[in-house]
Amino acid sequence: MMSELTKLTIAEARDRLRAGDVTATELTEACLAEIEKADALGAFVHKTPELALQQAAAADARIQGGAENPMCGIPLGIKDLFCTQGVPSQAASNILEGFKPEYESTVTTQLWQAGAIMLGKLNMDEFAMGSSNETSCYGNAVNPWRRGNEETALTPGGSSGGSASAVAADLCLAATGTDTGGSIRQPAAFTGITGLKPTYGRCSRWGIVAFASSLDQAGPMTKSVRDAAIMLRAMAGHDPKDSTSADIPVPDFEAAITGDIRGKTIGIPKEYRMEGMPAEIEKLWADGADMLRDAGAKIVDISLPHTKYALPTYYVIAPAEASSNLARYDGVRFGHRAKLAQGDGITEMYEKTRAEGFGAEVQRRVMVGTYVLSAGFYDAYYNRARKVRALIKRDFDEAFAGGVDAILTPATPSAAFGLGEMADADPVQMYLNDVFTVTVNLAGLPGISVPTGVDSSGLPLGLQLIGQPWEEGALLNVAQTLEDAAGFVAKPARWW
Ligand code: GLN
Repeated sequence: MMSELTKLTIAEARDRLRAGDVTATELTEACLAEIEKADALGAFVHKTPELALQQAAAADARIQGGAENPMCGIPLGIKDLFCTQGVPSQAASNILEGFKPEYESTVTTQLWQAGAIMLGKLNMDEFAMGSSNETSCYGNAVNPWRRGNEETALTPGGSSGGSASAVAADLCLAATGTDTGGSIRQPAAFTGITGLKPTYGRCSRWGIVAFASSLDQAGPMTKSVRDAAIMLRAMAGHDPKDSTSADIPVPDFEAAITGDIRGKTIGIPKEYRMEGMPAEIEKLWADGADMLRDAGAKIVDISLPHTKYALPTYYVIAPAEASSNLARYDGVRFGHRAKLAQGDGITEMYEKTRAEGFGAEVQRRVMVGTYVLSAGFYDAYYNRARKVRALIKRDFDEAFAGGVDAILTPATPSAAFGLGEMADADPVQMYLNDVFTVTVNLAGLPGISVPTGVDSSGLPLGLQLIGQPWEEGALLNVAQTLEDAAGFVAKPARWW
């Protein structure tokens, strides 16, 4: 069956490609066929079948010649935030309508050099701002999972909602995502897949449309922990074009997965036990801790006292950086330019272009960001947020210095919610989705979401593991233990 091929993990496909059991072209054709049947998911927003088949032919030639890179011949989806040469790269915004970059992001360049294949671009929240994929100019992506037998359309999460939907529905073997405050981990949890946000600086941000530069980080969204390890290695590395990318060696993360976590110390932060947290999430978390204990880890209670300030801190810093980054979209250099009336000057051109091009959430963030950076309020908001950020990071530093190897928390405060359900809610309701994930970005740490269970209506739930900086290998090893113990194998019933 063709569609069985698209269900393969990267590791399985690698082995079968090497064994000559399957070709990259067959894998790619199978994915393209699934993508054609899945428009109802709204995951792929620009399809690149011709490019994919060319890349597949090249990969097959390399594999026949003995290519050893595990990503060679692996068909991927790419979040629309990554600039891909000659292919629309819109960050799901009307303001970038028609923008086809002349250049390729470093992360995707490295993936293509490794022999991976691009099937197309994936839906997301506009400029990666959101938690439900509903701020996209293309319309929302849809979660392949449903509650029991209900037909209510659920969000795949955001901002990397298209990536999550595509991987969960087996339209591709894996996808790229980006995570500024949870945008890889939350959609991964909502769709029953694995999502890894690496240490800040592990992957180059060059050629990725910037949201909040001190928080943004690219990472893999995959069907297994092992796949995250394999794909991260191809994405990571120092890049002279991004001064914040770290000049340290990229280890073989897959080799770090030994399945042995005996003697490791796992911290359970008491501040993540939020008031009103659903009992199902409490139980999932406790079960996860038991699984790691059974595997030989030591479970300890820890305190991260500044956790309660993380969301307000994030929602000052991220909009501040966004308002500065988004100043470049002015109708002059990229994408959309508004039609002007007689007598309009350059100011009207900027104003009309930005009013037409940016959606409501992006405009809200630009306004909040400009406000917190304004001369009169800079100290009260932005500067104070920077200081609190340092305290949040110090909490983690102290936990790690105290002997904690990794920290276990829920990934999200709930399972996937219905599309439109938050439409009339206060925007802060949506921001609460990020309560367990933003601390990790503020502290620059690696974090991974692993599917570990389902709620009472059968929807996937994930746990998050947070690791020490640059210790993605050790983190992946703990994550693998959790994956093995949880044995999450459920797949969404096909309705699309
Ligand atoms: N949901 C968060 C926000 O809206 C995080 C987004 C992200 O990680 N890109 O800012």
